[in-house]
Amino acid sequence: MPSFSVSLLLLGLSSAASQPNFVLLFADDLGYGDLGCYGHPTSLTPNLNRLAAGGLRFTDFYCSSPVCSPSRASLLTGRYQTRSGVYPGVLYPDSIGGLPLNETTIAEVLKPAGYATAAVGKWHLGYGANGTYLPTNQGFDQYLGIPYSHDMGPCKNLTCFPPDVKCFGQCDVGTVTVPLMRNKKIVQQPVNFLELEKAYSDFATNFIVTAAQKQQPFFLYYPAHHTHYPQYAGTRTAGKTLRGPFGDALAEFDHTVGDIMAALEKTGVANNTLVFFTSDNGPELMRMSRGGSAGLLKCGKGTTYDGGMREPAIAYWPGTIQPGVTHELASTLDILPTMARLAEAKLPSVVLDGVDITELLIQQGKSKRETMMFYPTNPSELYGLFAVRMGKYKAHFYTQGATHSGTTPDADCPVFAVLKAHDPPLLFDLEMDPSEYYPLSVTGRPDLQAVLEKIRQVKAQFEATMVFANSEMSKGTDKNLVPCCNPQCSPKPTCCSCA
Ligand code: MG
Repeated sequence: MPSFSVSLLLLGLSSAASQPNFVLLFADDLGYGDLGCYGHPTSLTPNLNRLAAGGLRFTDFYCSSPVCSPSRASLLTGRYQTRSGVYPGVLYPDSIGGLPLNETTIAEVLKPAGYATAAVGKWHLGYGANGTYLPTNQGFDQYLGIPYSHDMGPCKNLTCFPPDVKCFGQCDVGTVTVPLMRNKKIVQQPVNFLELEKAYSDFATNFIVTAAQKQQPFFLYYPAHHTHYPQYAGTRTAGKTLRGPFGDALAEFDHTVGDIMAALEKTGVANNTLVFFTSDNGPELMRMSRGGSAGLLKCGKGTTYDGGMREPAIAYWPGTIQPGVTHELASTLDILPTMARLAEAKLPSVVLDGVDITELLIQQGKSKRETMMFYPTNPSELYGLFAVRMGKYKAHFYTQGATHSGTTPDADCPVFAVLKAHDPPLLFDLEMDPSEYYPLSVTGRPDLQAVLEKIRQVKAQFEATMVFANSEMSKGTDKNLVPCCNPQCSPKPTCCSCA
């Protein structure tokens, strides 16, 4: 197998041209079964389908947490959330903590290598006093977006189709309306959701065009609000799909993906850009038909079954990544080391949990990832890992349902499925049984007993070296920290409103 630099030469890329651009598309609460190219019958995702057809589509790709903030922390740092302290649960508008500034994000890895960096969309890694934790303090030159989930505020300006239909939920009525921020400044509060995706699309296009004109390599991170609850969509896609509000929201996200691809193509940089798409966690099944779908996987958001953490993922880089499907194991944790390698950037001197998957992408080689660790939404040293995947096998040491995964007929998914320890662990062959329906009996099967023994060893080694950072969420909340466009006004939170 040729080395990476040799294969780049074979591909006609000189060393100077080998510093590629990166576009990282990150959907929210989108499940394994939600895209057209992953088998959903009524989703309208032509642009993502096109990336899948022309790129590498993963069948065994995992995020690191079944909820938003910890998953994002791992994506951007290449480290399990337990190391950065972004656990348990998620951050709120008045959270005191956030992704610690001494953690090194992908943007902070790429900037010293000469990259322009921008984030657009849902941050959800903290706000903090005076916007301490916003993207512009975490390696991003520019930011446009909502710094947390869009249900974390009264659902103002949120319209479903047709417009007289309520958006099925009150959201968080006790806090400020949702702000739109440009860098560290609030530019709209409440945000106009119907115009939001267009603003994101324009921002992303402008960023790409500017960097391309300067011939500067760039990193664009687009964590979307879609398809998190509550669903909304602007006029371009509202009412346009067969799938209802969720389908319309997903189609709006897909439309922005199309706009970004058009910008890459128009500026002539598409062939020198790695576009990577995945999602932060599994579907919020409690929203029923207005939540996503894990397809054939078990349960969804909030659980350590595969439906909570196995995600659609696509790597697209015309001329460099051959179209195809891979069953190799990979994770959001692997993005940072892979982008660092491709950019010839220096890795941070910290323990990384990600592995470089360049050979998997470029040469359709093997993944260096042999295991995936599953922490619940509230990781603790007391319980440790809930599950471990090694090769095709997954062993559950603990299982627990989640509120987010309520309403499905599977009794293991909702919150009523209380924490259960398994000794011996529940063992599944995910190649034969991706739905985790049929635990394997190890009795009289020395081969499977050896698998379990190996998994126990791997788990023990991993946990012996895992150092839990202090929890950022346990720092608590302070009502004075919420973003307010009119900081001196009274009474809060209702006065935080600007025309
Ligand atoms: Mg999420």
